[in-house]
Amino acid sequence: MSETSTTASDRGSRTGGEAPLVRAVNVTKSFHGNEVLKGIDLEVGRGEVVCLLGPSGSGKTTFLRCINQLETIDGGRIWVDGDLMGYRDEGGQLHHLTDKQIAAQRREIGMVFQRFNLFPHMTALQNVVEAPTQVKGVARKKARARATELLEQVGLGDKPAAYPAQLSGGQQQRVAIARALAMDPKLMLFDEPTSALDPELVGEVLRVMRELADRGMTMIVVTHEMGFAREVADHVVFMDGGVVVEQGPPAEVIGNPQHERTKSFLKRMR
Ligand code: ADP
Repeated sequence: MSETSTTASDRGSRTGGEAPLVRAVNVTKSFHGNEVLKGIDLEVGRGEVVCLLGPSGSGKTTFLRCINQLETIDGGRIWVDGDLMGYRDEGGQLHHLTDKQIAAQRREIGMVFQRFNLFPHMTALQNVVEAPTQVKGVARKKARARATELLEQVGLGDKPAAYPAQLSGGQQQRVAIARALAMDPKLMLFDEPTSALDPELVGEVLRVMRELADRGMTMIVVTHEMGFAREVADHVVFMDGGVVVEQGPPAEVIGNPQHERTKSFLKRMR
């Protein structure tokens, strides 16, 4: 990490009383009777970066997928920009949104996965142009101009014609970030975006994510990159066994953890 880059507090991204962009209250989720989220509360302010940390199997990915409605929660509520996501009420009644409502909400949320999932038969530029033209009906010429800008933003201005197979993992992940940004999301979710990468390629992806944070994007990032969490996150959430064990500013949660489970996890991460 460069020593001159901004920190979360430099960005001044605290919300100052504005309604949070994401609000999760007492979220529960089970798979086949196995409760993997046991009452998660979280607020993410506009322009904030929140890192979710925790051992494998603690429910981090499931929670992200619930925010994006790839999973329906069993209890509690999630709001994104004031919109209530689908949920099951206290009587067990499912309040599904219509497919159209879910699609509309997902359009506002960009998601970047561990595996980049680019369309292999399309160039980098075509990958970025695809969703805005197909889903939002943006004119192709306009979408191409925006995609070109976004590829430049992620440091791939010279690679519009490259196919995924011709790009390194780090470059593919940067195309995946550009592709998510092409939909102009108000929220970006990252699920271990660097964990499938060779170590030497991790930095270039984290740099792009840090720049995105500096531009004021609201981000929830599941990561094992403690340096990134420490320097870029406004707020860090440590999860274990489906509960939030500890949360707060990185200087507290990572710098001075209070709970044994957090301490032993961080020790293992070193
Ligand atoms: P993390 O991201 O912290 O590693 P996950 O959210 O991936 O944790 O997983 C939490 C638990 O939920 C794990 O025990 C996992 O096996 C289980 N799980 C996740 N998705 C499913 C699913 N679709 N069906 C059954 N179990 C699942």
